[in-house]
Amino acid sequence: MTAHRIALVPGDGIGQEVVPAAVRVIDHLAAQAGLDLTYEHFDLGADRYLRDGTTMPADVMARWNSGEFGAVMMGALGDPRVPSNIHARDILLGARFELDLFINLRPVRLLDPRYTPLKDKGPDDIDMVVFRENTEGLYTGIGGQFKKDTPDEVAIEAELNTRKGVERIIRAAFEYADRHGRPSVCMSDKSNAMRHGHDLWQRVFKAVAAEYPAIEALHLYVDVLCMELVRKPERFDVIVTNNLFGDIVTDLGAQLQGGIGLAASGNLHPGKVGLFEPVHGSAPDIAGKDLANPLAAILSAGMMLTYLGHPELEQRIQKAVQDVLASGAVTRELGGSLGTAAATDAVIEVLG
Ligand code: ATP
Repeated sequence: MTAHRIALVPGDGIGQEVVPAAVRVIDHLAAQAGLDLTYEHFDLGADRYLRDGTTMPADVMARWNSGEFGAVMMGALGDPRVPSNIHARDILLGARFELDLFINLRPVRLLDPRYTPLKDKGPDDIDMVVFRENTEGLYTGIGGQFKKDTPDEVAIEAELNTRKGVERIIRAAFEYADRHGRPSVCMSDKSNAMRHGHDLWQRVFKAVAAEYPAIEALHLYVDVLCMELVRKPERFDVIVTNNLFGDIVTDLGAQLQGGIGLAASGNLHPGKVGLFEPVHGSAPDIAGKDLANPLAAILSAGMMLTYLGHPELEQRIQKAVQDVLASGAVTRELGGSLGTAAATDAVIEVLG
């Protein structure tokens, strides 16, 4: 029996509801497929921080980095009681940076035409994968403030782009396209205005693209990409971009695929532990009320199963979610009437 050990961090708000929902689904599949999934629950998040000041213990990070776990499944981090968001930064950004999870992989795939806000677009049109650089860019915190809280205040936020970092994310996008028969890779930057860092992206993109002559290499400035994603999403197969632009573009993508309740993601570094999480946050407004859509977490757990070497199980999850969406057995924000638990039951029932 194949065995995998998974670290669970439900975290804050609706993370506490959607992670157990996803675990129920993968446990159901594992029982059928003869997989031995075991879990260790990590008490990390706002409650823990408020209780004893702990955000991300160094020994936990070391264990996640040690190969003990095949994957980490995270819910959400964010709580109005911690306005500084320090725990979320230490845990999620800490894991991304310290584990060097340089790929933020976000599929944008419409599973049922009725859930996209775009007129006359269907599942064949909205089916792409975004590779967002996850360890550099504008999210490293490099910079500073000078003369804070005075009329002369200066604030600098530096964008970090290294050749190694840019090359490995662009290469990952081309390798993915190559392996999955995707005909094109679109790199998006703002090299017309950001002439140093994004010139590096331009040069590296051309060099890596030359190694993949069978794959069309497209380039769009990020503002044009946003327009084109709405106007003609069928143009896109694989998109690769930096940390900030990827953050924004993938939220646009989440809406194209039916909303934040359906958007899944993985934080990856091939050969290392992968961290999987729904794109949505902790949603304090609906937390604890059995209102959260569990499908984003369930689809993220599907991505995790592929990462663990079981792509056929992710396909089963995707098909089940597709069937559930088609039947209308969904949560309220998608126009249905089910709660989190009942929406999870619906997926398990379709899985049979
Ligand atoms: P955070 O600060 O943790 O990022 P947030 O509430 O600011 O949380 P999100 O949770 O990403 O941001 O989403 C904003 C709103 O979208 C939520 O307040 C909630 O109403 C809705 N929402 C998010 N996720 C879901 C979900 N899984 N199911 C239903 N509604 C959701």
